Amino acid sequence: MAEAKIRLSVEQDLAPGNSVPLDRDQANYLFNVMRLGLGALILLFNSRDGEFLAEVVDAGKRRGMLQVKGQTKPLQLPPDLWLLFAPIKKARTDFIVEKAAEMGAARICPVTTQFTNSDRVRQDKLQAHAREAAEQCGGTYVPQVAELARLSSVLNDWPADRQLMFCDEARVGPAETLTPASGCKWAILIGPEGGFSQDERARLHALPQTLPISLGPRILRADTAAVAALTLWQFSLGDWA
Ligand code: SAH
Repeated sequence: MAEAKIRLSVEQDLAPGNSVPLDRDQANYLFNVMRLGLGALILLFNSRDGEFLAEVVDAGKRRGMLQVKGQTKPLQLPPDLWLLFAPIKKARTDFIVEKAAEMGAARICPVTTQFTNSDRVRQDKLQAHAREAAEQCGGTYVPQVAELARLSSVLNDWPADRQLMFCDEARVGPAETLTPASGCKWAILIGPEGGFSQDERARLHALPQTLPISLGPRILRADTAAVAALTLWQFSLGDWA
């Protein structure tokens, strides 16, 4: 049997025998870019059912159909971890979203802060980056990218049962040890290039769910800080064990 290398995230339910129609972009990618034809095998996942093998049963220029065969991987959900970050330059924002999807964040939330450099993001493009990252890294779940929201509004509605790991550049110094507390929902917060304002810092400190932490003795750029914080969290409290 030919080896299936291409992985696609789809919306449809996946179970043996199901048909999965392809939209124009998917058909273009599989049949024009990747040059697959009838009988080719690919892997599908949908963030709910796990990963399945599927066979191309119709290959048009602008449409196509896959037929689902057996399951190849069970669903693996990431831990209940959100990444909140202030958008920076486009390429670095794309990087943060891609890395968050690879590192196993469940939800990615761009937030504007007082010193945010960019107050617009293309949510649809960021969602596509998250999907491509999940396809590429072998995950079976695509994290949701939320619409851009103000940090102050997000904090006003902060859920009582979610801890907030506040990466505070003012604490630059020895990195913290995170003590596992089972069953806790978490979020990581990374600031913009300009850091957090005094008002934001005060607001964050006033929130009982906040855990301010240092990411070591050097000030990291926001994109580096996001990867470092995700690493620290996954290693101490997440699914790396
Ligand atoms: N311009 C700021 C740095 C901002 S770095 C200054 O010079 O102070 C961007 C974001 O990365 C910060 O808001 C913080 O969330 C995170 N960060 C970078 N280095 C960090 C460190 N050593 N400890 C904790 N957070 C850090």
